[in-house]
Amino acid sequence: MSVRIIQIHETDNVAIPVEAVSKGAILEGGLTALDDIPQGHKIALRPLAAGEPVIRYGAVIGYLKQAANAGAWINETMIEVPPPPDLDNMPWGTASAAALPVPPRTVFRGYDIPGASFAGIRNILAIMPAVQCVSGVVNAAVEKMKRELLPRFPQVDDIVPLNHAYGCGVAMNVKDSAIWIGSLKNLLRNPNFGGEIMVVGLGCEMLTPDMLLDPEENAPENVIILQECRGFTGMIDAILSMAEKKLHRLNARKRTELPLSKLCVGMQCGGSDAFSGITSNPVAGYASDLLAGAGAAVLFSETTEVRDGVHLIAARCAGEEAAKKLAAEMRWYDAYLRAGGADRTANPSPGNKKGGLATIIEKALGCIAKSGTAPVTEVLSPGERPSQRGLIFAGAPASDMVCGAQQLASGIVLQVFMTGRGTPYGLASAPVIKVSSRTILKELWPDLIDLNAGTIAEGSETIAEAGLRLFNMIIDAASGDYKPWAERYKLHNDLTIFNPAPIT
Ligand code: CA
Repeated sequence: MSVRIIQIHETDNVAIPVEAVSKGAILEGGLTALDDIPQGHKIALRPLAAGEPVIRYGAVIGYLKQAANAGAWINETMIEVPPPPDLDNMPWGTASAAALPVPPRTVFRGYDIPGASFAGIRNILAIMPAVQCVSGVVNAAVEKMKRELLPRFPQVDDIVPLNHAYGCGVAMNVKDSAIWIGSLKNLLRNPNFGGEIMVVGLGCEMLTPDMLLDPEENAPENVIILQECRGFTGMIDAILSMAEKKLHRLNARKRTELPLSKLCVGMQCGGSDAFSGITSNPVAGYASDLLAGAGAAVLFSETTEVRDGVHLIAARCAGEEAAKKLAAEMRWYDAYLRAGGADRTANPSPGNKKGGLATIIEKALGCIAKSGTAPVTEVLSPGERPSQRGLIFAGAPASDMVCGAQQLASGIVLQVFMTGRGTPYGLASAPVIKVSSRTILKELWPDLIDLNAGTIAEGSETIAEAGLRLFNMIIDAASGDYKPWAERYKLHNDLTIFNPAPIT
């Protein structure tokens, strides 16, 4: 029996086998494998000359350093990476508008917040330290509250400390500090926190409460300063007393039926392999198209993994403002990497390469697949909140923890996370739905992976069928009818806010 291979685009000169093949194995279409080829790695479909482009997704992912025969394993050591797309005069809006699939559902049941543009899907009391110095006290108070207070407020899902590493000891009056300060400010306003604000400061930190709060919010009912409290006991008492008042208000909230235009969802991938870009990410892309078509806001990020396919995103920008900001975000990130002596070849990771992702271009094309086909309505700087609906590029590093924190700051209430190699990643402030790129991962981790997209590689399900399953799971999770595994186990990674400013 021949081994199934997947060629994504008709112009591709490489394909990937859906399972590991041994030298001499016969592949679908009659090709013979010339090497032992790991699952998901590339195989030459025809003889390729030295210097010839390697084409996947219909795009050049690099140039061959040496000639290869049909059936040969094409791995990362054989490919030269070309420079990234030019950001100056990048054409935009040139892609013909795709007809989005018709969403079968247009409402969900969430927690509306009067005056806010998005609704929450969980009912969480969040407490933000203004500076890391107070986190120990805040954590102790949260532990005590979970034991003694939370059981009295059954409508409240959790109490979450928004711990972060900054607030002091970092250069404040520099342009790049606007990123972490703005991110913290917006994080406080994540819709899952129900509009309640609670900040605990020390009293001598650089980040004063007025930098996080609007004047009317900066009041004793929202802010505690530990240096004004009498001892540890006084600190804990002050935090519990403030929290109790807020828990009463949160506990009175009820879910109501809301249009999907009130929902803001984030997409990201991590621990990717060669299947991510052909199974889980396109499935997420289809769900994204359904959500965008229903009027929801869908955020995708991971600047370093979009950079090499940025011309494809620019082509989908709905307006000049978005296209210009897209180029500006990429330029800023290029400079940020350069300042650190790094470049885009710092990504992919060894795990990515082992999984068959040879170059950053190949990874980018697979990464972009999660954005579906909808037009890009808006581009955000890291931690900014959207003003539009539909598909939105929210600039943020690809690092899973940083992307998670930055999308939370931008206001996502749920994240969809695609993984090939597998990661138990989760967030305390928003449920995370995990989608596997291969069936073998779902079999290995049946109680961590929510949805298996490996069915696409096996040919037992189409992208649209799996995408619809994911869309329904997103709406069920948003409505409180489904709890993703990471939420059930409370798998909460530390919040890692993006801070490009110098630590002093
Ligand atoms: Ca990531």
